[in-house]
Amino acid sequence: MRAVVTEGVRAMAMLERPEPESPGPREVIVAPEATGLCGSDFHLFAGELSDEAGGSEFPRIQGHEVAATIVAVGAGCREELRPGRRVALYPLHACGECYPCRVGRPNTCENFKLIGVHLDGGLQERLAIGQDQVFPITAEDPAVASLAEPVSIAVRAVNRGRIAAGEKVAVLGAGPIGQAVALVARERGAEALVVDLQESRLALAREIGAETLQWSGHDEVVAHARRWAGAGGPPVAVDATGLAAPVAAMLEMVASAGRAVQVGMSNQEVPLRVGLLTEKEIDILGVSCCGPDEFGEAVGVVERNGALLARMVSHQFALGEAPDALRYAMENPSEVMKVVIRGE
Ligand SMILES: [Zn+2]
Ligand SMILES: [Zn+2]
Repeated sequence: MRAVVTEGVRAMAMLERPEPESPGPREVIVAPEATGLCGSDFHLFAGELSDEAGGSEFPRIQGHEVAATIVAVGAGCREELRPGRRVALYPLHACGECYPCRVGRPNTCENFKLIGVHLDGGLQERLAIGQDQVFPITAEDPAVASLAEPVSIAVRAVNRGRIAAGEKVAVLGAGPIGQAVALVARERGAEALVVDLQESRLALAREIGAETLQWSGHDEVVAHARRWAGAGGPPVAVDATGLAAPVAAMLEMVASAGRAVQVGMSNQEVPLRVGLLTEKEIDILGVSCCGPDEFGEAVGVVERNGALLARMVSHQFALGEAPDALRYAMENPSEVMKVVIRGE
């Protein structure tokens, strides 16, 4: 079978790889139909992921945002997993034994294995995976079904932020994750203000039902968000950029006793006045992937919002074009919302 292999930093090639044979017990073999690329793929490809995050494990077949069809089912799998079914893959496998696993937070497992990062992922023609990581999905378009993974991060962010009906939430960053946070927050009955540098990205946020603000600098954005929310600032603010300036603005704008949720990832450092934390008693909440139940919730969000989410898919490429697609996405961040690689 064909597989797109990242052989080392910034080196990706289409190679022949042996097909997985028959599925083991409680395992299925799937044919990836659509694999989304995202910022963490760019970081891995560029050699910017830390060793802890799985950054040095080459060669690797990337792709953790995967929609697929089942082609073979091993013994002892759930009844609903039948050949031909479209599924979304929950990319994470946790050890079940470390401290975070024992306290019910397997998404921060110290030994977790993510497909596309620590294990081979979606950029190949066949993939064997445990049945626990396979979620049937009814989305008609496989590219939309592949958005279950980025939407699952948004579900996690909304849960971490305890976003409730009637609350006002500021979201920094209108990429796919920021858009999905606004969507999930809206579904929960909250109001969202989405902030981004690019007006073109804010148009989709408005369709999702969010108010929007173009980033014009720290002080302006903080003042606007606090006016928008009233009563001392938004009770919840979410950063989906990973960049220092928006993160600082998030911490500054959020209300006293509020929640600041960090979803965007990066190696940047943010200077922080310590008193901000004590004076406002902010909860700062990090987000890493999501739990399996949250992935199930994300599948529901995708099934209910297919038409809206389809607008997030800005570019599609064939499997053989994956190396060019990745480079294109990295070089043209302002044109790309979500790049999806189609299987056959
Ligand atoms: Zn991703
Ligand atoms: Zn663990």
